[in-house]
Amino acid sequence: MNPTQSWHDRAAALTLDGRAFINGQRTTSASGETFDKHSPIDGRRLAPIARGQTADIDAAVASARAAFEDGRWAHQPPAARKKVLQRFAELILSHRDELALLETLDMGKPIQFSRSVDVPAAARTIAWYAEAIDKVYDEIAPTGRNALALITREAMGVVGVIVPWNYPMIMAAWKLGPALATGNSVVMKPSEKSPLTALRLAEIALEAGLPPGVFNVVPGFGHEAGEALALHMDVDAIGFTGSTRTGRRMLDYAGRSNLKRVYNELGGKSAFLVFPDHRDPAKAARTVASSLFFNQGESCNAPSRVLVHASIADEFVANVTAQMPGWQPADPLDPATVMGALVDEGQMRTVLGYIDAGRAEGAVCHGGERVRTESGGFYVQPTVFDHATNDMRIAREEVFGPVMSVIRFETEEEAVRLANATPYGLQASVWSHDLNRAHRVARALRAGTVHVNQYDEDDITVPFGGYKQSGNGRDKSLHALEKYTELKTTWLRLDDA
Ligand code: NAD
Repeated sequence: MNPTQSWHDRAAALTLDGRAFINGQRTTSASGETFDKHSPIDGRRLAPIARGQTADIDAAVASARAAFEDGRWAHQPPAARKKVLQRFAELILSHRDELALLETLDMGKPIQFSRSVDVPAAARTIAWYAEAIDKVYDEIAPTGRNALALITREAMGVVGVIVPWNYPMIMAAWKLGPALATGNSVVMKPSEKSPLTALRLAEIALEAGLPPGVFNVVPGFGHEAGEALALHMDVDAIGFTGSTRTGRRMLDYAGRSNLKRVYNELGGKSAFLVFPDHRDPAKAARTVASSLFFNQGESCNAPSRVLVHASIADEFVANVTAQMPGWQPADPLDPATVMGALVDEGQMRTVLGYIDAGRAEGAVCHGGERVRTESGGFYVQPTVFDHATNDMRIAREEVFGPVMSVIRFETEEEAVRLANATPYGLQASVWSHDLNRAHRVARALRAGTVHVNQYDEDDITVPFGGYKQSGNGRDKSLHALEKYTELKTTWLRLDDA
């Protein structure tokens, strides 16, 4: 990749390969069928993608099973596996420009963020789990003197990974890191809307020394490749990230097949609570704007419900809307752009439909228009609905676009009640300089992560996941290792001397 060229020229020079990756090799789908992948940036056709179906999933699972059973990965000494994953992380970074460009072309996020956020986060995730391989010890239970009970963690076997399109590489890495570190083989089904980086990651992992068959990628549609993987009798666990609707299906597939473990990381409708005792409400306004508009609002943890005390709400909304000009959508391949394109026309229509619903239900709309239509891509302005209420669709349902609902409250008790009045429970944020209130409210909020006086702190060391219909299990941190292992107890009776 020539760094002196513009990103447009680099994109034009890129050769895209949409074939599946099974048993260490690129392969066409068994049926020979493909589907066209278009870029949300300008609607241009990017590449034909293999349309994986049951036969392809069967081949990938068979290759993953064979790799697991002969121990080519799981039985390698921890130090050797660690070296491979470290090398994998290094190679991800050395392919930074290429991977960032693929991500941006595929799903429309600004190239500066693909480069500065997505690629480094994916690499750090793999490197961090590489380090975990020889840092996590098994246990011995406190039994009587004549017995010994060893509690060990063993790889599950074949892990199916099904991921969405909003952070394709990061979501892939959050599953791959712990699944590979614990010795499993993986079959990944990336989103049909963003398959390109997962396919390249599989090639890069092979180059790093991961044995063939340990990491397979089958692109395709959810109701075909995704369903075949989740129903497969020889898949031991599914690591799923996506919508709550599809997460429900994952549980059903497991019930209808082999009761495989299902770990669901699902949708959100995160609340951001601003109390009048916060000393810098303008900072709260800047933070909520950047946290929501980042990634075009296509983030599971986007703080899309903003609960503001009525006494400061007008000033707060003025501060938020003042941020909007800085978040106007522009060409994702321009390094200065901060807001890119929505992933496809369907997603754009969904977002515009919610904006219509918000207007129709009586909230006051700032922004809310489709822009850059002449580009052929799918761009929507940052949008703030003032005077929203918690029963409006824009406040109840996950919009998954740059749309914020501002809801006024009078008392702390009302704020907590509104914040928790959602089927989701992914994240929340409390803004208050009253230490007692900040702790009280943080404890009362039913969410997997609660931020206090900030929203953007994040690290691979902390768990990520939700309460209620935002999912079960946790990605990231050492806790994620638990998902991809079985606990085994080995009892020994010690002979008397
Ligand atoms: P989605 O549920 O439509 O698709 C996710 C994946 O599931 C894709 O690979 C898709 O092909 C597959 N799939 C779809 N239907 C399927 C079916 N019937 N059987 C098997 N597989 C199927 O979600 P999406 O639109 O790709 O992603 C957006 C959603 O992901 C949002 O709800 C967002 O909140 C959620 N998300 C959650 C987290 C988290 O960590 N909690 C992170 C990112 C995204």
